[in-house]
Amino acid sequence: ATPMALMVGTGRGAQLGILIKGPEVLESTRRVDTVVLDKTGTVTTGKMALTGVTAAGGEDAEQVLRLAGALENASEHPIARAVATGAAVRVGDLPVPEHFVNIEGRGVQGVVDGHAVLVGRAALLAERSQEIPEELVRAMESAASEGSTAVAVGWDGRARGVLVVADTVKPTSAEAVRQFRDLGLTPILLTGDNEAVARAVAAEVGIEEVIAEVLPKEKVDVVTRLQSEGRTVAMVGDGVNDAAALAQADLGLSMGTGTDVAIEASDLTLVRGDLRAAADAVRLSRRTLGTIK
Ligand code: ADP
Ligand code: MG
Repeated sequence: ATPMALMVGTGRGAQLGILIKGPEVLESTRRVDTVVLDKTGTVTTGKMALTGVTAAGGEDAEQVLRLAGALENASEHPIARAVATGAAVRVGDLPVPEHFVNIEGRGVQGVVDGHAVLVGRAALLAERSQEIPEELVRAMESAASEGSTAVAVGWDGRARGVLVVADTVKPTSAEAVRQFRDLGLTPILLTGDNEAVARAVAAEVGIEEVIAEVLPKEKVDVVTRLQSEGRTVAMVGDGVNDAAALAQADLGLSMGTGTDVAIEASDLTLVRGDLRAAADAVRLSRRTLGTIK
């Protein structure tokens, strides 16, 4: 393509709500055959709300909310925002936690009202010798089967409750996945969330391949592995978690609604956070570069 054609293509992208870092990006866009999609904030809105509380036998649901809510108040994670907001509505003012530690991609810990509190994945609590009792395992499984995310709450050495937060799939995601397939692209859902939640969301939007329970720093390894299998990979993400994978991908696409770190690491930004614009970008690049091999 001539520099002129590339410039026109880039300008047309801007009209479609696609910000392209440089004209050469259109070439990598054209070659992509696999689209890796981050779940939270990319396929889903990332706007989570607290929808359920389960306390283990002998525990008080209000106390589960109070201790978990206080701890999550110190975190920026979407799950944390939902838990803290929901807890404040139900139990009122939350105490300020001490010794807060964010355990990236796994949960949070700290001291609230003198209790050593842990909130996060079941595996995180299990690792700290807080086995999840059967009734809480069931609550977590039933949430996951509906595509909701459940986090476990423990304090002073015991798992004591489960909080359920629900995120919703963006209304445009299923249509975008359909368009990827029409373009001959293979969609893959990538998430740190558990397999059952990932499967439920994937089914809702029509994705078959799921890579779940991936730690933030491992997302980049997934992209590298797919590339070593000979795939040309586009990665779409919105979070700080996704930045390294966006940079490693043959084409990194960020959501305009996402974090600055993700936007900076990407080649192309979908201004409105609408996944269909990713399919528009592929069509645009094919049209712009259609005549050259
Ligand atoms: P994603 O890859 O879908 O954007 P993350 O990598 O941010 O998700 O988080 C992975 C998992 O770690 C979450 O599904 C949750 O179980 C747990 N987790 C992470 N941060 C928190 C937190 N602040 N509170 C509770 N659980 C958390
Ligand atoms: Mg995300």
